[in-house]
Amino acid sequence: MKALSTVLLIAISVAIFSTAQADLITIPTTPATDACVSKAEMQVIAKSFSQFSQYANADYCYDNSQISNLISSIMFMRKTSFAPMIPSKDELFTGRFASSWWDYFIGRIDTIEIVQSCPKGVIAYVYSFGGKTMYACPAALTEQFSSLDRASVFMHEARHIDGFPHITCSKGVRKGLQGACDQVIADGGSYAVTVETYAQLGKFATDVHPALKAYAKASAVIYADEAFETPIRINRTENLLILTSALEFHLMNPQTAEYHKVGNAKAAGHIVRRSQHMIMIPDDKNLKAEYVFSVNQGDISQSPSEAMSEYNAQTPTQKENLVDMHIGGQWNVRVYKNLARFVCDPTSATVTDIQMPTGKVPASLVYPAGYDRVNYTVQLTMQSGEIYDLGCVNRKASFAPSATKLDRMYKRIQKAGNVMFGMMADGHLYRIDNGISSPIGLPIDGSIIEIVPQQSFDFYETN
Ligand SMILES: [Zn+2]
Repeated sequence: MKALSTVLLIAISVAIFSTAQADLITIPTTPATDACVSKAEMQVIAKSFSQFSQYANADYCYDNSQISNLISSIMFMRKTSFAPMIPSKDELFTGRFASSWWDYFIGRIDTIEIVQSCPKGVIAYVYSFGGKTMYACPAALTEQFSSLDRASVFMHEARHIDGFPHITCSKGVRKGLQGACDQVIADGGSYAVTVETYAQLGKFATDVHPALKAYAKASAVIYADEAFETPIRINRTENLLILTSALEFHLMNPQTAEYHKVGNAKAAGHIVRRSQHMIMIPDDKNLKAEYVFSVNQGDISQSPSEAMSEYNAQTPTQKENLVDMHIGGQWNVRVYKNLARFVCDPTSATVTDIQMPTGKVPASLVYPAGYDRVNYTVQLTMQSGEIYDLGCVNRKASFAPSATKLDRMYKRIQKAGNVMFGMMADGHLYRIDNGISSPIGLPIDGSIIEIVPQQSFDFYETN
């Protein structure tokens, strides 16, 4: 029997993929997304992929079809240019897959077949010892998935032609998921290709939109952190990102409380983490939820998650109903005014609703243990001050009073650099040590509307 080698984006799939809504991805400065591909280019592509011959007799213009998305991804591989590359001092980037992606790809794949259905979380696959065909799942070809993502996926799949099957993760964020891990990044298997390609794009691409580069940087770290049995060494620093009512982002050192302004936000709102990614749910319910970047990198229109696509399709009145959301590695929960909606199984679309306890009004999710994708419970505060545990332990939804106690009614609790911080609804920030809160007294105190831990990585920060 043939073994399937797949890109299992399980941990991320819960959030990335959706067919519920077609957000347009625009990457205006990238050659790969010019409106049309020249006839000459199309003929080069058709030379390696005869399936495109019928489109190679003239210029090919993008039309958002599945074929169009394939061609735009191929063009992304062919045309993205990079500055001179140097390896990272940690294990994030070696450059061993950095020479021509196109040559690498056509050396291993000669046919891309679009298949009509795939299991949840699977976006592309090849058969081990089964020829040079790559199968692309519908999820990979929607506008929820950019040409940048697909270029990385194509490279990942091409690597499987050389072997390198995945294993079931025995620990970590993807524990128990079949085909969701490689042993060590130094083996250079397909997840190493994923990490390398995203890191390369994030650090060295010369004509990719800054927001898309920021997205690629975070994506490389997510795979590095979540898809290997042997943890990868990445030099990083964790700070507390603060948003003020003046829509300014500030970054604060959690130990010294020194801070500086890093950028501006488009709108006020609540930031939900999806691993290293940040998703902004704006207070203005006429606006859509989207990825947010703190250093004025701009926006990407790619939908950040299936749940967010669903949210964005709602009316402002319906959107008001969502109180908060947590995105774990293999589960998520949306807290609505009247119930909590759990997705506990990363391999199925099943949701479980549990009603709010009688008389309880949900306030917000808090993270006294820190935001960690590996955890299966999260704390919900009620407006009455009580705290509940919400979780998907053993893939079973639960909603019960918590043993966690807080000394005051915080709107947010986050951990950054192992220090716990609490933000009150009046915009004041506190440091919490052993359950005792003490004011930090920043000059921006009183105007703070959101806090979230944010990591930065030496490889991206240094030249
Ligand atoms: Zn794979």
